Amino acid sequence: MTLIPKSHPRAKSLLIREKLVSGFDKGLVAKEGLLAQGRGEAFDYLLGEKTTKAAKHAIKAAAAQLLQAQRPVISINGNIAALCPKEVIKLSKQIKAKLEVNLFYSNEKRKQAIIKTLKKNGAKEILGTNSANSTRLPGIDSARRVVDKNGIFVADVVVVPLEDGDRTMALRNAGKTVITFDLNPLSRTSQTANITIVDNVTRAIELLIAESKRLAKKKEKSLEKIITNFDNKKNLTENVIQIKNNLTRRARIA
Ligand code: ATP
Ligand code: MG
Repeated sequence: MTLIPKSHPRAKSLLIREKLVSGFDKGLVAKEGLLAQGRGEAFDYLLGEKTTKAAKHAIKAAAAQLLQAQRPVISINGNIAALCPKEVIKLSKQIKAKLEVNLFYSNEKRKQAIIKTLKKNGAKEILGTNSANSTRLPGIDSARRVVDKNGIFVADVVVVPLEDGDRTMALRNAGKTVITFDLNPLSRTSQTANITIVDNVTRAIELLIAESKRLAKKKEKSLEKIITNFDNKKNLTENVIQIKNNLTRRARIA
C-alpha cells in the first residue's frame, strides 16, 4: 500500500482509492469499478467531501424503510466488497437483510473472491452463489438480470449501492423499493431509486447503521411518517443546490 501522509488535503479520498486498488489486486474489483470510483470522487469533491444535510435526511428515510421491510436484501458488488465489507455485514444484521452478490460485470472468479472476502468478514449466508437458485429479472438483458430466487427476486426492498441505471430501472419495474448510495445526484440510478443517499458509501454506511439502530426503537407509525414525508426528487435537488453553492463560493475566492 502506498504511504499517504495524514496532512495530505485529499488523504481520506486517497485512502479510499487505495482500498479499491488493493481490491482490484485481490480480484474483487473490475477495471470498470475503478473508473466508477473516479466518477464518484469527482462528485464527492464538488459536494465538499462530507455528508450533506440532505444526505442525512435520506439516511433517516432509508433506515425507516429498511426497518419496515418484510424481505430486505443488500446487493453486493466488487466495489462494496473492497470498500466496506465489515459495514455491509453489520448493516445486514442490524436490519435483518439478506446479502446477495450481484455483479454488473459478471465473472465467476471475481464472484468467488467477493464471497471469500465477505465470509472472512463474518458473513454467514450469501445469496447469488448457487446457479440452481438463479432466475431472471425481466426488463434488462445480459448477465445483470440474473438474481437469486430467494433473494432479490422476492425482496420488497433492495439496497443497491453504486448501481447502474438500467438495473435500478428493472428493479423498480419489478415492483421493488430501491435504496441506493450514489455520489452523483444526476445519475439515472439516483433519479430512479426511491431513496438516494447522495454520499460516499464509506461515510454514509456507518450513519445508516447508527440510524437503523436508533429508529428500531420507534413505533411502526412514526417509521411510516418518516417514509411518506421523504421526497427523493426534492432531496436530489437539495444536493444539486449544495454543489451549486459550493461552486459559487469557490468562484468568489478564485
Ligand atoms: P447511471 O448508470 O446510474 O446513470 P453512471 O453510468 O454514470 O450511472 P455507473 O458506473 O453506472 O455510473 O455507476 C456508478 C455510480 O456510483 C456513479 O454514479 C458514481 O458516482 C457512484 N459512486 C462511485 N463510487 C462511489 C462511492 N464510493 N460512494 C458512493 N457513490 C459512488
Ligand atoms: Mg451506468
